[in-house]
Amino acid sequence: MAPRYRKLLDEIRREFPQPVSDPVHDAYAVFSILRALNQVDELKSRAPILGSPAEPDYDAARLARVADGQQPLEQVIPQLVSYLEGMFIWGHPRSQINVVPYPSLASIIGVLLPAIYNPNLCSDESSRRLAEAEVRAVAMTAAMLGYDAEKSGGVFTFGGTGTLLYGVKIGLEKALPDCLQHGVREPVVVLASDQSHYAVKTVAAWLGIGQESVQRIATHPDNSIKLGELAVAARKAIESGKRIAAIVATMGSTDAFGIDDLEGIVQLRDELVEEFKLDYRPHVHADAVIGWAWSVFNDYNYEQNELGFRGRTVRSLAAAQYRVQHLPLADSIGIDFHKTAYVPYISSLVLVKNAHDFKYVARARDSMPYLYQSGEYHPGMFTLETSRSATGPMAALANLLLLGKEGLRTLLGHAVEMAEVFREKIESHPDVTVLNGDNVGPVTLFRVYPHGVNTFTIKDRERSDPKFRDQLLAHNAYNRRIFEHVQAEAIEGRGVVISMTDCYRQSDYGAPISALKSYVLSPFADESRMQSVLSHVLAAREAVEKENA
Ligand SMILES: *Cc1c(COP(=O)(O)O)cnc(C)c1O
Repeated sequence: MAPRYRKLLDEIRREFPQPVSDPVHDAYAVFSILRALNQVDELKSRAPILGSPAEPDYDAARLARVADGQQPLEQVIPQLVSYLEGMFIWGHPRSQINVVPYPSLASIIGVLLPAIYNPNLCSDESSRRLAEAEVRAVAMTAAMLGYDAEKSGGVFTFGGTGTLLYGVKIGLEKALPDCLQHGVREPVVVLASDQSHYAVKTVAAWLGIGQESVQRIATHPDNSIKLGELAVAARKAIESGKRIAAIVATMGSTDAFGIDDLEGIVQLRDELVEEFKLDYRPHVHADAVIGWAWSVFNDYNYEQNELGFRGRTVRSLAAAQYRVQHLPLADSIGIDFHKTAYVPYISSLVLVKNAHDFKYVARARDSMPYLYQSGEYHPGMFTLETSRSATGPMAALANLLLLGKEGLRTLLGHAVEMAEVFREKIESHPDVTVLNGDNVGPVTLFRVYPHGVNTFTIKDRERSDPKFRDQLLAHNAYNRRIFEHVQAEAIEGRGVVISMTDCYRQSDYGAPISALKSYVLSPFADESRMQSVLSHVLAAREAVEKENA
């Protein structure tokens, strides 16, 4: 008699896609996926979330243990689906939460295929032509941004944070040759604006140069770096014997879409090299994980405006693109397809202007005896990751093919158009004020004030005058309460889900300025919803006023 495990094995084999085509089983495989999707579909309603609001039950989760026995797939599916209960639908017209994309069908298929056949991008030994897909997505993106696609290079990695890690690590190696081998033994600085993402600090911490090595430079009210202050900090660092591991230009900040003057930063870097006769060229990394996509407008004719955006939108698109067009000046660029290109997490690409720069982080072949026995393309020799999924590049490629420049222009242009509509509506209302008024992106930060507050003067006073500190903090709390009202309603299917930031920037005297935040990315956003955000915010204010009375 066959041992028991043989019988179990026969059953378990049915739980895998069949390696040799078996039409009956193939139908079962596809049907199982459909079944899961159908169950999710049943959770959809008018509300911008799946099912009803549900809080995670961590206590129950911590009590879970692996059972002895098995469960059939039919029982596993509903359990997996149940975790989507209460999940936001990012693409819902009532959803304006954050810079979270709503993945296109093409990009979902881009994830599904490698999920089934599981290539490993470590080397083309194990990824075959999927390595080519990555090279293709890299070349298309590099050329679109203005890099010389022949000379530049790139790899997909584990997030925008990963792209920063590559940028700063390569810069560190240029500033301190061979620290890959010997470690960091000299003091270095990383220069970035005070609106740069906290990931810059994460990266400094993990690279062992310390968070304190990150100097955060003051920004203009439009949230771009003050070049004069950057120059002072850089000179001071060099004069005190420190080396510059990297200058990070933020090309689209997370909360306020501030875009640094990259051209000015690169010019400053070149001047420093001359002035101090530096024996290295401080590396300039562009953290463009958000702003990169605006490069689709590099060859848009704003005068003809053939897509027919309204005047305000054209102005904003042109203003953002005017700064983003300088991306090819950066030594490396971080790109998140999962921020502004409608692709699922994780799909992040780090580009280097000069592909040879990857040599700074390459390992010696003899340290990896079991890899790279055949094939010709081995990104695993310099990537931080060993195994690397092809889902990121395939999803990115899917959308680059599907949308082309025109599709991306349409989506981003629509997002900015909706934000402009919203700002226009806010401007016509006396008790609400836009905080990032110079903003040219899809995000609007705004604050609501109690009746009788002069909103024409208040935001400048709160920002600059320490006498207004208490008022600033009280209004922070006021806006938090309004946010909670709006949120509670939206989750029940009335109004729109927005978000809130506790500190979109600090006041000149160091207090946090909080803001309500509308981040429009959904292709399904429409004008009536923009009006509805404002009406719900105003209704929430009445509710808060009543509670106060
Ligand atoms: C989101 C973001 C990051 C971090 O990227 P992840 O993909 O979330 O790791 C870095 N910089 C900026 C400006 C960002 O908005």
